[in-house]
Amino acid sequence: MKVVLRSVLLLPKQPFLRSATVSVLGSSPVCKPEFPRSAASTSTVSGSKVKVSEIEQTQLGFLNSSKTDIFLRLQTSVQPSGLSPRDKINLPLRLKASRDGVGLVQETIQTKENTPMSINKPDDSFREMRNRFLRFKKEKYLVNLECYKELAQAQAPKFLVISCADSRVCPSYILGFQPGEAFIIRNVANFVPPFENGPCETNAALEFSVNDLQVENILVTGHSCCGGIRALMSMDDEEKSSSFIKNWIKVGKAAKSTTKATASNLSFDQQCKHCEKESINNSLMNLLTYPWVKERVAKGLLSLHGGYYDFVDCTYEKWTLDYLKNIQKQETGGYAIKNREFWS
Ligand SMILES: [Zn+2]
Repeated sequence: MKVVLRSVLLLPKQPFLRSATVSVLGSSPVCKPEFPRSAASTSTVSGSKVKVSEIEQTQLGFLNSSKTDIFLRLQTSVQPSGLSPRDKINLPLRLKASRDGVGLVQETIQTKENTPMSINKPDDSFREMRNRFLRFKKEKYLVNLECYKELAQAQAPKFLVISCADSRVCPSYILGFQPGEAFIIRNVANFVPPFENGPCETNAALEFSVNDLQVENILVTGHSCCGGIRALMSMDDEEKSSSFIKNWIKVGKAAKSTTKATASNLSFDQQCKHCEKESINNSLMNLLTYPWVKERVAKGLLSLHGGYYDFVDCTYEKWTLDYLKNIQKQETGGYAIKNREFWS
């Protein structure tokens, strides 16, 4: 077989490839989405160094004497220094081509399970997402079929979790909630607005989970380095803005005021951390402004909990609002908590 370079490959920003070998894995009349596992024949082209830099055209092409399409695998070894974690995840790269030269496709292979997705190309992310879904179906859904059939009829979660929308703090991932265990609301900075603020997505879901699902626990869980809390602490309270974010995070103004009053001696970063926890308690108190929440808490049917995930050192702090003591404290203000635990 004779190999001649003739196709054009365009790659986005990539590190230098230190070496490359091209293997002919087999022949097919069409370019299939996956390589055949059993290679019909293998030839290796080596001895030349391939350098791929930012938007650089590399002439690659293959002439097959039998005039049929060929599949190619380009295996690369890349010097790891200077690579971002995402670059490292993208290795090894796999390239494939069809005879007409227009079908060169970069494909990402995840070398480890549960690593973040590649976002080099949307197709890469969805290919990985598809793989994860099919793996879930095979290893979880079909293995626990009876459980999922029951869940298909109804849900009866014992928890409502109110968490930040931050991509690093998925409560199901961190706290291990399985399907059917937790009804989850996620918003910027895990706020619960007070009843008097009127309807929004958060309290609509709150109403459904408390009155219809009759959850037994509400967990408001915050986290370290919260961008929403930082924005709250940085903003001018008097500023009139059309920004959706600024208007939303005003919900946390009471927590900010308390933080400024009690922690003004701390650095700004420490004040933000203080406010991250203060706003959780502020949200717990706001939950009691909803009459149907307060009623179920008073009857002992519902408990309100706070949680704080520190992803810098991977610790979790959990506590429970002490409703009875809070009634006693109503005149003096503040709030009482109990059952504080620190998981590390
Ligand atoms: Zn956040």
